Amino acid sequence: MAKGRAQDFCNFCGKPKSEALILISGLDAHICETCAEQAKIIADEELVRLKKKPTKRLKISKPKAIKEALDQYIIGQDEAKKAIAVAVYNHYKRLNQKVSDDEVEIEKSNILVVGQTGTGKTLIAKTIAKQLDVPFTIVDATTFTEAGYVGEDVESILSRLLQNCDFDVTQAERGIVYIDEIDKITRKSDNPSITRDVGGEGVQQSLLKLLEGTEVLVPPHGGRKHPEQKLIKVDTKNILFICGGSFDGIEKIIAKRTKAASLGFKKREEHAEIESIKDNFYPFINHQDIKTFGLIPELLGRLPVLVHLNPLDKTALKSILLEPKNALIKQYKKLFAIENIELKINDDAIDLIVEKALEYKLGARGLRTICEIIFNEAMYDLPSDDSIHKFELTRTYAEEKVNKSTIANLKAV
Ligand code: ADP
Repeated sequence: MAKGRAQDFCNFCGKPKSEALILISGLDAHICETCAEQAKIIADEELVRLKKKPTKRLKISKPKAIKEALDQYIIGQDEAKKAIAVAVYNHYKRLNQKVSDDEVEIEKSNILVVGQTGTGKTLIAKTIAKQLDVPFTIVDATTFTEAGYVGEDVESILSRLLQNCDFDVTQAERGIVYIDEIDKITRKSDNPSITRDVGGEGVQQSLLKLLEGTEVLVPPHGGRKHPEQKLIKVDTKNILFICGGSFDGIEKIIAKRTKAASLGFKKREEHAEIESIKDNFYPFINHQDIKTFGLIPELLGRLPVLVHLNPLDKTALKSILLEPKNALIKQYKKLFAIENIELKINDDAIDLIVEKALEYKLGARGLRTICEIIFNEAMYDLPSDDSIHKFELTRTYAEEKVNKSTIANLKAV
């Protein structure tokens, strides 16, 4: 392949070299960039058609095995892991089910996960998809707007799923989609009536059909649909949707409801139980609370499995640092070991990392940021010094690094 000469032209559209941005030459012909792009789209679509294989039965682990696999990566959140394992198992059992004539149709079990940011919502969805070996994609609900408005159509969720499995429609049709920030598309009650709520309730309406199961024409490369584009048909009936959100402020809604309910309790113990949840209201969440928060009932109806994640306390954060299969501390030890350096971390230095993540309200995601701050200088200096084979992280050293960094400014917030 070479670039065309001045007198050459595109053999597909006839455009002369002077008018084309790029003209690629083959043995006897040339193609301009526009036709090459068009050819790529046609080739992609043809590949999709050719790749459409008969559906294989998916080998699906039992709920206990799914939970055990999750345990390797996700600390705590036992209740959520169990509920999700059952929902996922039932979903794929439904997929493998032969059509029977008893007319009992198992309905889809899309999942809604509620929990503060950084408590493991995305991690759970990702781990489930990896374990099942099905296509997976994460999308952000805030990027979508109602069809016809500036922003992305909800169908582009499926474009990403298709892209992640090399446009194999059969695979995509039983994949998992994680829709993050679902709480950010709530009905805007204070929205003045003159402006339409295209990013809130409008998007919820657009998501309804997708979540329930419908045939959708998907633009292969995402974005907005346009008339001359060829579209790929995807059936969402067997796609498992997991929606997640932090639903900031939902604790107050749960508290209000549970307190109101507790007034009706006669028994002292029941009253005491409600009183004891002051620190963590999440276990008492129900669909009604989510509706009060602003998700429309029709959408909630398509998310029958409601799961909550608990806020992470000191013990949980410490375990996250040390225990999962690819725990952060294991990763740093490996990074140092590659340089022939043994990394020893004192227990009180670990405590400091956890305390800082809590102090700066960074949650589990902050553990990584704090570790980077602490280890950065050592990781910069030590590889150039062949005489050092051991590095011991003390609390004093760690504290000094954190206090010197810009992250310390978060204290004032
Ligand atoms: P979110 O709830 O905001 O989706 P993520 O799942 O993205 O949070 O978590 C952010 C990071 O924090 C993860 O990549 C993981 O390293 C860590 N993490 C959060 N919760 C847990 C948990 N329960 N167990 C292990 N790691 C966790």
